[in-house]
Amino acid sequence: MSGANSHYAKDPGPLGLYSDEAKRASDIVNLHLVVDPEGNSGRWVAIRLSDGGSDGTIYDCKCDAIRHQLSEKQCVYVQIQPSGLSAKDAHILINLHRDLYDANRKLPDPPCPRHGRIM
Ligand SMILES: [Zn+2]
Repeated sequence: MSGANSHYAKDPGPLGLYSDEAKRASDIVNLHLVVDPEGNSGRWVAIRLSDGGSDGTIYDCKCDAIRHQLSEKQCVYVQIQPSGLSAKDAHILINLHRDLYDANRKLPDPPCPRHGRIM
């Protein structure tokens, strides 16, 4: 992880090229959709901020995804949408969460019907 102000150095240029981690994250989400579009839509993956990779697991809810990471703030938690995840959206999500975590903040977690609580 490089310096604190380097996040936006990876913004795409005029050719719309996104960082390797954004492309990797996009590939991971879209591959899950290819494998099982119906079954995997609405489920969650934990995308590492460091490299855009995941632990290879699809979680039923965000709290499960968080619980299986060493540290919540290593990852951005992405709910798989039927439309998939573009590299652009992955790029935005990753950079947003780097900034949020740096500021000791996070997005609110959705209520979890499986665990019956709001985190
Ligand atoms: Zn849950």
